[in-house]
This record gives sequence, C-alpha cells and structure tokens, in this order.
Amino acid sequence: MLIALLLLTAPVDRDVLLELLSVNTVRGHEADALRPVLERFKAAGIPAQLLESEPGRGNLIARIKGTGARKPLLLLAHIDVVPVEGQKWNTPPFTPTEKDGYLYARGVTDDKAMASAIVDVALGLAGQTLSRDVIVALTSGEETGGFEGVQWLLKNHRDLIDAELALNEGGDVVVSDDLSRIEAVKLQVAEKTYQSFRLVVHGPGGHSSVPPMDRDPVLQLSRALVKLGAHRFPAHVLPEVRAELSQAARTEKPPLSAALANAVRTAPRVTPADEKVISSDRILNSRIRTTCVTTQLQAAPADNVLPTTAEAVVNCRILPDTTPQQVGDELRKVIGDPGVELSPLDVLGAGGEVPLTGAVPDAVHAAARKLWGDVPVFPSLQVGATDSRYLREAGILAYGVDTAPTSLEDTRRGFGAHGANERAPVKWLHPGTEFLREVVKELVK
Ligand SMILES: [Zn+2]
Repeated sequence: MLIALLLLTAPVDRDVLLELLSVNTVRGHEADALRPVLERFKAAGIPAQLLESEPGRGNLIARIKGTGARKPLLLLAHIDVVPVEGQKWNTPPFTPTEKDGYLYARGVTDDKAMASAIVDVALGLAGQTLSRDVIVALTSGEETGGFEGVQWLLKNHRDLIDAELALNEGGDVVVSDDLSRIEAVKLQVAEKTYQSFRLVVHGPGGHSSVPPMDRDPVLQLSRALVKLGAHRFPAHVLPEVRAELSQAARTEKPPLSAALANAVRTAPRVTPADEKVISSDRILNSRIRTTCVTTQLQAAPADNVLPTTAEAVVNCRILPDTTPQQVGDELRKVIGDPGVELSPLDVLGAGGEVPLTGAVPDAVHAAARKLWGDVPVFPSLQVGATDSRYLREAGILAYGVDTAPTSLEDTRRGFGAHGANERAPVKWLHPGTEFLREVVKELVK
C-alpha cells in the first residue's frame, strides 16, 4: 500500500524527461519516444492514442474530460529535436547527463522538458473536476515546419485538438545567472514570421580555364548579398516588445540600458542614436526590426566547371506588422539588379499574435505570484517560429510558456536551444513543472 502510494505521488516529470531524451528524435522516431508515455496515460485511466502521420512520426493525443462549462485547453509540446552534426558536445547528446547542476542533452530545453511537464501535470488532473477538457498533444516534426505534427493534426484530426486556448513552448522563465532565483517570466504573445527567399543568377557555364570577362554569376550574386548584408530594416518598438525592452533597460549596463529606456519612452519610434546602441546587441536588435541573413550558397557542381547558376538562400524573420511580400519587395529594391531573381521559398504561416490580456495572461500572473512572489511577468515577441502560428491561424489562442528555466547568460553563451551542450539547471526543472501546473489549475477552475 505504502509503495503504491509513493508511486502515485512521486513526480513523474523527471522520469519522463529522461525517457524522452534517451531517444534520438532528429527527424523521426517520435513514436518510439512516445510509446512509454502512452502507457502512462493508459495506466492512469486517461484516454490516449498515438497517431502516426508517417511511419515513426508519432503524435500522442490524450484528453482529460471536464464538465464542458468552458471550451478545451490544449497543452502542446514537440518531441522532435534538431540535429547535432558538426557540433562539439562534451557529453553524448542522446544520453542525458547530469553535471555541475545541469542536465545536458539534445532537446532538454527544446522541447522535451515541456513535454515531460505536460505529462506530469496531465496525469495529476485525472479524476479531478475541471471546468473544461484538457487536451495533451505531443507532436512530431515541429523543427521542420510541423508538417508531420501540428499541421497534419489540424488538417486530419482537427476535432481531437480543437480548443479555445493553448499553452505551447515559446515563453521564457529566466533564472538569475547564479541560479539562485527566478528573475522574470515572459509570456509569448506574438512571433516573427519565418520566410526564406531564394536568389538565383544564371550564367552560360563552360570550362573554368576560360572564365568569362564580362559577367560572372557568382560575383553578381555576391554583390547582391553584400548589399543585403548591409541593409537594415527600419527599427520600431511594437506593443508586445515594449515591456521586454523596459525590463532589459533595468538589467543591462550603460549605454544599452539608457538607450532601451529611451526607446520605451519614444515607442513605437526609435531615435537613430538609440537604434545604433540597441542594434549592437544582436538579441535586442532582433526585437526591434525584421532581419534577413544569407544562410546557404551554391554554384557549380565541380571545382573545374563554370556555374550555370549561382544560388543563395536568405532567411528572414519578419515582425508581425509586416508581410513577407513587403520584405521581398524591399529586398528586390535593395539589390537593384533585375539579373538577380528573388522568389519566396515555402510559406510556413504568419507568426500571428494573441491578446496581451485575458485568461492565459491572468493565469500566468497568478501562477508566478504564487510561486515566485513579485517577479516581473510580461508579454514577449518570439523571434524564432513555433507551432503556435498554425494554432493561431486556426483560431486557437496559443500562448508560449516555459517549463525549463534558464539564465540569460546561458542563452548568450550558446547553451540554449539548438546549440551544442544544450542544458538546463536541474534544480529549476521541477519548479518549471509546478509553474505549468499552477497555470493550468487557474485555467480549469
Ligand atoms: Zn521547440
């Protein structure tokens, strides 16, 4: 009896996290990672199923029934992770390793800690009276556009995940650099739109021993890329960014702190002097403007052949008040060369935004106050893309939260999502789960 009780009350978030991290889910095998989770739901008497969009690409859906007084709440996390090739890891990326107070593994912050927190919180809801259904969706393929996961679910099983509200990755619980306390809670209410463009210059080709003297596609493309590299999209402060800059003004050092404080005062306008200072910090720069950067280059198939095409891919992260079309037009104008063809690659949905006030912001404020006192809580703009964009397009109010608190210093040093040696401070992982639990409690009251 005692053992049974202990098993029932022991937190499962850590066990689930270690299980999930031990399966390599780079572009596949999500179903393998999710099968033990499915068993946990079944053992707890919670209806759950594992749907495969393609072999191995699993999506786990579970539902804890409520009274139906309010429309459902969706808890979403993705199980796939980005590759580790070319990165210098000090621990095996798919063997979770605890060292010096940190848990190291690919996916620990993005997004398996969130998945394990969701499982823990959902299992804890079994048998309780809830004002709404709570739906769990642990999905595939987020890192490659959500085609095998959220997009597939919306298209083929919309009824299973239809909800009024959703909690997804994308927020940020910030720990002080010494890991002693929570410094801030950011609730993601908007994200930049992800749009890549392909640039192509055609050439006659031929033998590389007789290079053309008049025109060279590689040089023509290079000149265009140099122009794009020097171009700065106009800076302005959107409402969903203002609070974040205001908070940064308090924690950064001069002259950055003064420039940020001033930009908050003059918002949405940014003075040229403030812009210069803020733009010198690449994280803050990304908050105040659309950015584009060349990420891929390609020319001849062999070193002794003249290229018939020189190609580049430019990846843009677009502020929510701007369209990809507008950015494409601006890029063409900056290049000013009709010989450089510019066309958009896959359209992956607009970033979208949700209200800065309402049930979820209220719940996040209440949870943060209960757990961490008067810690600042504010809305934020995400510069990366998440599956929330598809949910928002489908009319579901998706907010980004965080269950793996990390420090700003760690993020700056590259220990965060997608980097080598991705890690999370161990002592804050369970409090992260408790934070999610409190937010959910507020929303199912
Ligand atoms: Zn993610």
